[in-house]
Amino acid sequence: MKQLTESVYWLRSAVGARCYWLEADDRVAIVDPGMLPGLSRLSDELRQAGRSPNQVTDILLTHHDFDHAQTAAIWQKRNGARVWLGADDIAVLAGAADPSSRMRRLSSKLVRVDLPERLQPIVGDAELWPGLIALHTPAHTAGHHSFRWRDVLFVGDAARARQGRLVPSPSWQMSDLKRSPAELARLSALPVTWYCPGHSDPTRRR
Ligand SMILES: [Zn+2]
Repeated sequence: MKQLTESVYWLRSAVGARCYWLEADDRVAIVDPGMLPGLSRLSDELRQAGRSPNQVTDILLTHHDFDHAQTAAIWQKRNGARVWLGADDIAVLAGAADPSSRMRRLSSKLVRVDLPERLQPIVGDAELWPGLIALHTPAHTAGHHSFRWRDVLFVGDAARARQGRLVPSPSWQMSDLKRSPAELARLSALPVTWYCPGHSDPTRRR
């Protein structure tokens, strides 16, 4: 694991989206634990760093796509953690709402994402616990959230980072493209030090 700040680490062995580890006061959170092939690799990486998957108290999911959320239910069973996910994305995993694009409808048939237990729905912007802010960023999926912890911003698929700045995710990945520019402007204006995206390496804001 690569330390980014005093409390945030990048877990580099995850498969799928970039995965992050947050240690704060009495909480330990994993952000977007990713796909099945990375499950045991992540455990090994944590053990080598003197940590354990059993420490996790909170699983933060930026959204429901399998490359971010496929192993959330398995992580949850291991440690009984709370699982935070946007209410609109919970509805998709629960089968109560349709995935937002043809590609998602197809991928949901190919790769199953089990609905984790102890789900904590996030609606709009919310403070999940003191200092951990969820920002509703629904351009990628209706229930997508970015998470801010102190000087770190986890942006999931709301944006990528390049040379210290947030840049748009590929337009074909967005289910509500017209919301993207405002979302990007809002995230870019936040006075953080680190950007931690789902599909580009974490980078210091410039
Ligand atoms: Zn993704």
